[in-house]
Amino acid sequence: MSQVLRAFIAIELPSGVQQRLGRVIQRLQDQLRGVAIRWVKPQNLHLTLKFLGEVSLNNLELIKEILAREAAQVPSFEFSIGELGAFPNAKRPRVLWLHVTAPPPLLALQRSLDLQTARLGYLSEEREYSPHLTIGRVNRQISQTELNRITLLLQEAHLGLDEVVSVTFLTLFRSDLHPDGSVYTPLAVAPLKKPLQER
Ligand code: ATP
Ligand code: MG
Repeated sequence: MSQVLRAFIAIELPSGVQQRLGRVIQRLQDQLRGVAIRWVKPQNLHLTLKFLGEVSLNNLELIKEILAREAAQVPSFEFSIGELGAFPNAKRPRVLWLHVTAPPPLLALQRSLDLQTARLGYLSEEREYSPHLTIGRVNRQISQTELNRITLLLQEAHLGLDEVVSVTFLTLFRSDLHPDGSVYTPLAVAPLKKPLQER
């Protein structure tokens, strides 16, 4: 029997960014008081590049190699964090998120990681990749009145964030699901290609 763990590849956010976003999330939480939403803890905020799911321990080294190789080919880059949105849409919000700009290196990384890990059997999503930071998950049993409050907030919120994140490495995370929030543990980090002047 081979052991497995739940894993995903992501970009970590600096703790300063996490703290400032945490305050934004707190404000939204106050505005949606009484609505059943599981809000993401600030220290858990991250940008997922590839959700792997169940990974057998036997494959872990191969995944770390892919991560190191693909990261080393893409120069460090920046992305900015924008407005509030929801999947699948504002009328039927299930996942609340903050928009993330998609600079070409981010998309290149996502595509190459997706392709290389798919070759090991970690299949791609059917939906097109759309970079976002998940900040909350709406409870399935929520009433129409609660839904309307979320929809209204989505239509009217202007967060006016001014957050730019510099990305210099990627992280392979283990995820342990718990009723009171998942616990993410870094298993490996992989540096991006350094800009010329720093080599
Ligand atoms: P919970 O599922 O209990 O809400 P979580 O979503 O924080 O916890 P995981 O389900 O392990 O924890 O997900 C880890 C990361 O991968 C999160 O960013 C999540 O949004 C993303 N993710 C999870 N499942 C998928 C999926 N099927 N497709 C794309 N991304 C996913
Ligand atoms: Mg999940």
